[in-house]
Amino acid sequence: MRQWVDSDYFPEGPDAVRERPDRFEFRRCLPFLFLHLGCVAVIWVGWSPVAVAVAMALYLARMFAITGFYHRYFSHRSFRTSRTMQFLLAVFGNTAIQRGALWWASVHRHHHKHADQEPDVHSPGLRGFWWAHIGWMTSSKNFPTNYDSIRDFARYPELVFLNRFDLIVPLLFGAGLYFLGAILHVHASVLGTSGAQMFVWGFFVSTVVLLHGTLFINSLAHVFGSRRFQTADDSRNNLALAVITLGEGWHNNHHRYMGAARQGFVWWEIDVTYYLLKLLSWAGLVWDLKPVPRSVLEEAHRLPVVPEAA
Ligand SMILES: [Zn+2]
Ligand SMILES: [Zn+2]
Repeated sequence: MRQWVDSDYFPEGPDAVRERPDRFEFRRCLPFLFLHLGCVAVIWVGWSPVAVAVAMALYLARMFAITGFYHRYFSHRSFRTSRTMQFLLAVFGNTAIQRGALWWASVHRHHHKHADQEPDVHSPGLRGFWWAHIGWMTSSKNFPTNYDSIRDFARYPELVFLNRFDLIVPLLFGAGLYFLGAILHVHASVLGTSGAQMFVWGFFVSTVVLLHGTLFINSLAHVFGSRRFQTADDSRNNLALAVITLGEGWHNNHHRYMGAARQGFVWWEIDVTYYLLKLLSWAGLVWDLKPVPRSVLEEAHRLPVVPEAA
């Protein structure tokens, strides 16, 4: 029970948990069941244009928080920012309900290190599509945060606190949505929403779509799409995934060079996260956006026209 509140609570120690067999566990399924079953409540609360609009806006905003901050900042350090801003980025990312930034980034760094090789926890080529998509998160072996792989950020106690008590932000987020709906119900009744309706659309529906959108990069982006670079993994470039994930679908590019703030390497590879990071840098909130090295860009431009046999 205590572990639901304190993600770093392991009476037998995190190393012993990591040694457990890698398998589906119903107990770890419960948070996902809760989120998915919550969506069914639309039957009772109905819908309104404002509730659906809030759900869509929250999908986009939180997708940016995951791709721009959890992924490109905490996992890859592809730009720099202040300590205060860094904390706010972690809080914003935490509203996506994909656990703390340190856990997320530590798992992701592990993925790059072993992509589609035996230790990779989410490779569709090794353990099948559904395991790579969501099954791996039901294995308690993958639950502890490997602080050794994220030491650069684990030296900030405020980030460790957020990572350890990773339900605080989602609970406040859910309560905020309920109150937003309740206030609109009283003061803007013409909108036809309510606290419960706003909560179901903003917290459950938006979050579940966001969860699967994010997870598609682990599953679909290693199965469907084109391979510009012959990387040592199965990563693909996929326009549809790039659209729904605001730029993460250029996953083969990303596996070729993971340290850049942008993942679309040529002008037509739409990468909304990068455009937004650019805006933040013009506003002075982030800086030192890491570019794609010239040699990799030249490779990207050259590869599609070079005959395979050359
Ligand atoms: Zn990958
Ligand atoms: Zn990455």
